[in-house]
Amino acid sequence: MKTPFISAKELETITDTYPTPFHLYDEKGIREKARAVNKAFAWNKGFKEYFAVKATPTPAILKILQEENCGVDCATEVELLMSHKLGFTDIMFSSNDTPAREFQYAKKIGATINLDAYEHIAFLKEVAGLPDTISLRYNPGGVFALGTDIMDNPNESKFGMTKEQLLKGIQELKAQGVKHFGVHSFLASNTVTNDYYPELARQLFELAVEIQEKTGVAIDFVNLSGGIGVNYLPSQEANDIAVIGEGVHRAFDDVLVPAGLGEVKIFTELGRFMLAPHGLLVTKVLHRKQTYRTYIGVDASAVNLMRPAMYDAYHHITNMSNPNGKLETVDVVGSLCENNDKFAKQRELPEARVGDILVIHDTGAHGFSMGYQYNGRLRSAEILYQEDGTARLIRRAEIPEDYFATIEGFDFD
Ligand SMILES: *Cc1c(COP(=O)(O)O)cnc(C)c1O
Repeated sequence: MKTPFISAKELETITDTYPTPFHLYDEKGIREKARAVNKAFAWNKGFKEYFAVKATPTPAILKILQEENCGVDCATEVELLMSHKLGFTDIMFSSNDTPAREFQYAKKIGATINLDAYEHIAFLKEVAGLPDTISLRYNPGGVFALGTDIMDNPNESKFGMTKEQLLKGIQELKAQGVKHFGVHSFLASNTVTNDYYPELARQLFELAVEIQEKTGVAIDFVNLSGGIGVNYLPSQEANDIAVIGEGVHRAFDDVLVPAGLGEVKIFTELGRFMLAPHGLLVTKVLHRKQTYRTYIGVDASAVNLMRPAMYDAYHHITNMSNPNGKLETVDVVGSLCENNDKFAKQRELPEARVGDILVIHDTGAHGFSMGYQYNGRLRSAEILYQEDGTARLIRRAEIPEDYFATIEGFDFD
């Protein structure tokens, strides 16, 4: 079972004030998660979590993470701009297919550039000049497996550079005056296992030793990127970040320390793991419909949470108003004119009556941020459930004027 972070009664005080649908975030849970991550890697002096902004690009959330000593990982100029305005100084820029002006801006605000491609070395030098510190993104090719479990196919991934390119790149950058180097790799997404980071870390640590042997460069930092997942399914066991941190520690002691690289800093760029469980999409039942199936029509749709439509992803649903209702098998659907606009298919849920409040779990990352405006459905509000139990609006819902604001040549006043 999954228990929402807020009681039905407390949620009612919020839905009395703010119309559904909205995303609700749990400040306490976010802070505890950030502290757990920092604690799991406290053995490493230079450890830093650079939160992946794309997961939840909401200033009030980023501020909480900043207070918990996190930096940010950005992929675009707008994410950089927001992070810079929020006063972040630890900024990673892990972009790909990057426009010139975004490299220029990243360099200007002092972000650490994480180069996706060997070819970008010459491009960066030409458009922005080379910084003192640079990171390179590694793609080992082949398949990434944990034991017999194939996790992903790096050979099909557009990201990163080959080992040959990486070694050559470091030699060239060093010759051109770059002083500090890092390596980065992201080989599997949403892993629900405590073994992913330790295995990735071991491979990157071995790469760091090889870099030292072949180029004489002592790597400054190893960036394990994102990819630690969450238990969207109630039957899955949640990752244990303390166990993961210890696994990375063991690989560090086995590989880096004997090579004289015990000063290497560990960085992470977690998005999903930091935020997903600490967000709920709150929605109200508008209609029941009976044809060949029973449909529960809610006021949220795929524009508020795209993962079920896009990846057929499971998100747990709790009926806050009727938790002990008679079980029935239903499809929970939004209003978009697309049949993939379903939050649940043939799911057994307590009877959902018109007006009931449902919460869709684990929407704190890659939820609001993947939103869009198909069918003229507008982006919802975001609300922070604060540690003191009060609710704060941190982003208002869009209104039709927002939708029309970019249109040229027509007047909708
Ligand atoms: C998306 C992304 C992340 C975050 O991934 P999660 O799976 O949300 O942890 C981190 N780094 C980079 C470069 C990414 O593209």
